[in-house]
Amino acid sequence: MNILNFINGKFVNPINNEWLENYNPSSGEVYSQIPNSSKEDVEEAYKSAKSAFMQWSQTTFEERSRILINISELLETNLQQFAEAESLDNGKPISLAKSVDIPRAASNFRFFGNAITQFASESHESVGQNAINYTLRQPIGVVGCISPWNLPLYLFTWKIAPALAAGNCVVAKPSEVTPMTAFLLGEICIEAGLPKGVLNIVHGLGTTTGQAIIEHPDIKAISFTGGTGTGAHIAKVAAPMFKKLSLELGGKNPNIIFADCDYEDMLNTTVRSSFANQGQICLCGSRIFVEASIYEKFKADFVDKVKALKVGHPSEKDTNIGALVSKPHLEKVKAYITIAKEENGTILCGGNEVTVQGYENGYYLEPTVIEVPNDECRVNQEEIFGPVVTIMPFNTEDEVLQMANKVKYGLSATLWTNDLKRTMRLSNQLQAGIVWVNTWMMRDLRTPFGGVKASGVGREGGFEALRFFTEAKNVCIKY
Ligand code: NAD
Repeated sequence: MNILNFINGKFVNPINNEWLENYNPSSGEVYSQIPNSSKEDVEEAYKSAKSAFMQWSQTTFEERSRILINISELLETNLQQFAEAESLDNGKPISLAKSVDIPRAASNFRFFGNAITQFASESHESVGQNAINYTLRQPIGVVGCISPWNLPLYLFTWKIAPALAAGNCVVAKPSEVTPMTAFLLGEICIEAGLPKGVLNIVHGLGTTTGQAIIEHPDIKAISFTGGTGTGAHIAKVAAPMFKKLSLELGGKNPNIIFADCDYEDMLNTTVRSSFANQGQICLCGSRIFVEASIYEKFKADFVDKVKALKVGHPSEKDTNIGALVSKPHLEKVKAYITIAKEENGTILCGGNEVTVQGYENGYYLEPTVIEVPNDECRVNQEEIFGPVVTIMPFNTEDEVLQMANKVKYGLSATLWTNDLKRTMRLSNQLQAGIVWVNTWMMRDLRTPFGGVKASGVGREGGFEALRFFTEAKNVCIKY
């Protein structure tokens, strides 16, 4: 099946008729073609968004809310089809797509459909000056949304839903590696009653299609999730045009385990926070630091649990670890395992490719645990973004805090302890946008989400996202 662009409410071929191959990572086979959209396609998408803007921005918030909730319900109705498509495109276990990715995409639309009805503007009376100020929250116009491959529909809709709720029209590009569910979303939007041109989806490479979006002088805001290098490039391109930017970038998150934690809960959650989605979640706790007094016990128990994970075809019910997203990504992750050995790391388990019967060309890798000799080695500093974690012991709170913060990233941190004072001290001092204590990846969509340092600029989630997708205009009236 060929994937097509969705522009002005219609599915269309790319103008230059250039196509890319789309791979099924679980079998290594090409299974569809996708447009490699050019500047001209992006211009068409922009024009369509621009002509829809006047009407959409004036649509009542009840109406916008109703349409977004319709989209949410249609995603729920089509859960099976979307989960299968996501799993086929990305290699993730279908059980995960069905329980996490697609339900969350539906929640994104429901949440922002509701949130917009509560998004109030402020007013300030200037007492003693006979004046009143009020703040208008106006949609920006045409905005760009660019998303990565690891949580395809989940992150694509995390941007689109608030952008639309706030009254903007959108030119959006999913990752060229996982375009399928974004393609299917077009049909749902038509059925939900979204007016044509309000959402336009263009497919293609970052360097062609993505570049055309970020360079477009009249796309005034870009919400981007992806790699830190790409984020820096976007910031550079966007700066002379003074575009508003939200950049959600890479991570190398510490998972800090103290001896006083609830051990079984920590152990089970740590397996998940290390290897969920083949370790391809920006929030995965890929650096595990364990208090020395329980280090040897943890090491043995953790390795036993990791060895028991089943690497298999994404469609099989008992598969824990599916396929990595692409051949180049598999090669990148494997290269880090070689680097770990060169740096005197010890591979405690995993490290090898897996052949799944019947799918011999799929991109499967064993979940891998590396004991590292120090925290400064490359595998402990650079984002691997695969089923690979490092572990090492620590002795004191100060020591682990220093190691946790001594990376260029600052997305999330996880802390396992029952000591309240320690929790308060460390949560304050960890350099991260999100700190989880005695849990991982528990998300409440009202809360701010984002990173510090090389993990990004800006916050998404709740009213933060609606603030990003609006311009605040203050009006001061003297009476
Ligand atoms: P990537 O940066 O290669 O690509 C992300 C998106 O940007 C894709 O759609 C790509 O086509 C596009 N792109 C690439 N070059 C572009 C350019 N010059 N102009 C415009 N768009 C361009 O990232 P990826 O490999 O798809 O995703 C993995 C990365 O995403 C990891 O670093 C991961 O940590 C990060 N990530 C971050 C979060 C977060 O919330 N902070 C969430 C998920 C993933």
